[in-house]
Amino acid sequence: METVRNIFKIGYGPSSSHTMAPRRAAELFRFANATAVKFNVTLYGSLAATGRGHLTDKAVLDVFGADNVNIIWEPKVFLPQHPNGIKFEALNAEGQVLSDWTTFSIGGGDLSDTGERRKGADIYPMSTMSDILKWCQQNGRTFWEFVALYEEADIWDYLEEVWNVMKTALTHGLEEEGVLPGELHLPRKAAAFYTRAKSFQGILQRRSLVFAYALAVAEENAAGNKIVTAPTCGSCGVLPSVLYNCSVNYEFSDKKILRALATAGLIGNIIKENASISGAEVGCQGEIGSATSMASAAAVQLFGGTVAQVEYAASIGMEHFLGLTCDPVCGLVQVPCIERNAFGAARAMDANMYAMLADGHHLISFDVVIEAMKRTGHDIPRLYKETAEGGLAALMEND
Ligand code: SF4
Repeated sequence: METVRNIFKIGYGPSSSHTMAPRRAAELFRFANATAVKFNVTLYGSLAATGRGHLTDKAVLDVFGADNVNIIWEPKVFLPQHPNGIKFEALNAEGQVLSDWTTFSIGGGDLSDTGERRKGADIYPMSTMSDILKWCQQNGRTFWEFVALYEEADIWDYLEEVWNVMKTALTHGLEEEGVLPGELHLPRKAAAFYTRAKSFQGILQRRSLVFAYALAVAEENAAGNKIVTAPTCGSCGVLPSVLYNCSVNYEFSDKKILRALATAGLIGNIIKENASISGAEVGCQGEIGSATSMASAAAVQLFGGTVAQVEYAASIGMEHFLGLTCDPVCGLVQVPCIERNAFGAARAMDANMYAMLADGHHLISFDVVIEAMKRTGHDIPRLYKETAEGGLAALMEND
């Protein structure tokens, strides 16, 4: 498995696959073709189907300049390698193609020219939960210690930066009001939720605040502001909400939060390695399901659970989202995405309580749940995988 840094990418929303990765690809191609005067950019498959809603065109225009690029939309053309294809062509003044490059946005902000996830930069000797759990139990270690053993020493500096960006997005999102960009004219809700939640007491207040925190970050993402993928942009509100709740309302130190982040990153990494975190590949179970799994594990670690209980919570976080489709209305990362972040965060807090009440023993292991997610994702029809052609997206548009 790769470094957990690749799970936590700092950048601008609203989509890791549709905004972050295409922007990076455009920057690379532009840099490699500095003498070209014009560019063609062809977006294929789900990248084209929901690209306008996900601001893919804005990311491309920002890099090349509106006068220098022609964007071609091919939502019905799915390249065989991956549903999120993008082709760049660099042109000279006569319109001749100087060079071209086809690449794929394979989820979580990553690019691949083959559509396959590269295996090159593996730094961990194990990639399944069963092997890692066994190692932890045999050596009396925790998951965050396993991460610390194989990452570079500066991983803690990076996770601190991640935590700071998460907190800034969350606190900024709690303050902002008004309408989010896009044709839904969706009002932000986080500030109102926060104010109302504060008027409650005790556990009711803490549970309500989890909703407000998740909405705040997800709304920042929808607005195209700075967030951290956890593991994607669309699901970026779940983990910060749970960690912020633990930090502010249960007074866990930043040191403990960074360790919880490391464990959450490990869970995301295992899912990414053995299945997928891409909505275009496996539906929303790969995004909100993965985020909930990561946040559930982080919460149990913070509350003093054993590694078996952490594994159980990670399983719960994903298992009850199995089959969750991706059906963003108008192709915007807003409905149902923003609300799903709130429910993912609440479910992670529930998974924490459930796993802490149990002794860690359970029938279906995390690895089996992840394999089921992968197979389910591949069996889900394409229209429920980031095309905005099925489910809520189809019904809302005909309403
Ligand atoms: S429905 Fe889920 S997978 Fe699809 S765009 Fe929204 S958050 Fe991402």
